[in-house]
Amino acid sequence: MKSHTEELWLNVPERRAIVSLHRDIERLVAESGIKDGLCLVNAMQITASVFINDDESGLHADYDRWLEELVPFDAGTDPASGGYLHNRTGEDNADAHHKRQIMGREVVVAITDGKLHLGPWEHIFYYEFDGRRKKRVLVKMIGE
Ligand code: ZN
Repeated sequence: MKSHTEELWLNVPERRAIVSLHRDIERLVAESGIKDGLCLVNAMQITASVFINDDESGLHADYDRWLEELVPFDAGTDPASGGYLHNRTGEDNADAHHKRQIMGREVVVAITDGKLHLGPWEHIFYYEFDGRRKKRVLVKMIGE
């Protein structure tokens, strides 16, 4: 069995943004030489997600509005007025932790015939919820 591990570094200039990882993951799978196996892609920070869905800007704007409705950004520390207990640590990113929990940590994609084995509209994305600093994504591929 072969195993191949890579890390991708991102530094998203906005607080929140969706970034395609698709071409990078395709390239890493090709470079790994693995023809049949699995590819794990996970965010290594707890305020970012990796997810798979449609590469469609309207859907991405819908996600952002939906997440902001569920857990709006608020730097406050008093839940009675919309803030978060987590922000009592001195951070202001409690909403980002919640958004990451909703959108998930990782995806696992099959590798078949040396390529990502995805449905026709499946596309791999990184979702940043507390950007403007360097963060990593782990890519681990195993197989034959
Ligand atoms: Zn935090």
